[in-house]
Formats: sequence, structure tokens, C-alpha cells
Amino acid sequence: MDEDYALEMQALLDEIDADVLDTRLWTGRTALDPRVLDALRRVPRHAFVPEHLRSSAYENHPLPIGHGQTISQPYIVALMTDLLRPRPDDIVLEVGTGSGYQAAVLAGLVRRVYSLEIVAELAVQARERLRRLGYGNVEVAVGDGHRGWPEHAPYDAIVVTAATPRIPPALIEQLKPGGRLVVPVGPPRFDQELRLLSKDVAGQIEDKGVLPVVFVPLTGGID
Ligand code: SAH
Repeated sequence: MDEDYALEMQALLDEIDADVLDTRLWTGRTALDPRVLDALRRVPRHAFVPEHLRSSAYENHPLPIGHGQTISQPYIVALMTDLLRPRPDDIVLEVGTGSGYQAAVLAGLVRRVYSLEIVAELAVQARERLRRLGYGNVEVAVGDGHRGWPEHAPYDAIVVTAATPRIPPALIEQLKPGGRLVVPVGPPRFDQELRLLSKDVAGQIEDKGVLPVVFVPLTGGID
């Protein structure tokens, strides 16, 4: 971490702790996994936002990244990462690479991250950024996440960073027994809820709501 940003990063982590407490009645959590917070601390968020927004990079809210898309709020990234319960040997699928920030946080916690982005230009930029920053265990592809990424399935965990009214069935299929899927569910712009799906060893799905959220919509779709 750049010395210049260390203080801002600490302030951000303090805000995330405060948000966790504020939302504990929703999430049932009073603290996040320290490994998740460490992973956040190691990712230079300023390298994932447009140049002119760098001074806001450590503020605890989403920022525009072009193409009408956003880099998610750090607290939400932390919570989603925590909900995935990442382990060092995990293979993870992300739908919605955007800036590559969520992928970079995950990269510090798991074996490999496969990330799909539907906007080609964002995918190319994120891939180049992640390469430059040394994240060798993230692979980015241009594609519609509704189909998942069957070549590398099944996944220990899947994270969707755009909201969908209906969870794409391919994603549930590509989840390993014992795996976890975190996804904002709801219509564009309002009434969305972050949901956690767990697939048990028999393949049964448990689905629970975690927190009201606001995400950009999942576009594309093959339905
Ligand atoms: N995880 C990102 C946040 C991205 S915002 C980050 O850390 O910066 C959601 C992203 O999902 C946008 O970049 C959007 O283009 C992408 N997206 C929307 N629909 C998609 C789809 N069907 N498949 C893949 N990516 C999609």
C-alpha cells in the first residue's frame, strides 16, 4: 500500500467496521472475517478508479467507472466477500468484473478467480490493470454471465455484482455442492436485496436475504 493512502485506507476500514455494526440486525454479523479485511487493506483501490476520482477512492461509496457502470461501495465488497466464506483452495466465479476491484480482493483469498464482464472495453481495461498490479490468479473474459463460465465449473463460490430479478439457473448449476452464491436480486434501481444461496452436499439450495442494496442491473440474458 502506497504510504500516501495508508491513512485513508485505515479510515475506510474503520467506516466498514461501523457499517457492519449498523447493519447487524440485517446481516446477523457484528464483525467480518479479519482475513477479508486484510485482503481489502492490501488492494490499492485508487488504482481501480478513474484518474480524476483518485482522491475519492477510499470513500465508502460507489464511484462511476464509465459505460454507466460503478465500482461497488467498499463495505458492500467486504460484506459480499465475507459471505462467500473464501478459502485458500477455492475456485471462484465473478459475474461483472467492472473495474476488477472485487476480483482483486478475492484474488488475495482464494486460488483462482474467473471473472466475466459483458462490456468488452471494461473487461480489457480490468484485465490490463490486474496484470499490471500483479494479480496473476485472475482471469477476465468478455461474456454474458447468464451462461456462467462452464469451462471452469463447478465453482466453490460465485459472486454476481449486478442486480437481477431472477438468478440465472446456469450459475446455480455451476456451483459445487457445499458452495455459496452471493447475488443482488431485484428489479433495476430499487427494491433489491443481497441474497446468499448455499448448495448443500445433496445439491439442495438454501436461499436467504441478507441486506437491502442498490446495484446496476445485470444486462444481457438468454431467457
Ligand atoms: N465488481 C465490479 C463492480 C461492477 S458493476 C468492481 O469491483 O468494480 C457491475 C458490472 O457488471 C458492470 O461492469 C457491468 O457491465 C457488468 N455486467 C452487467 N451485466 C452483465 C452480464 N450479464 N455479464 C457480465 N457482466 C455484466
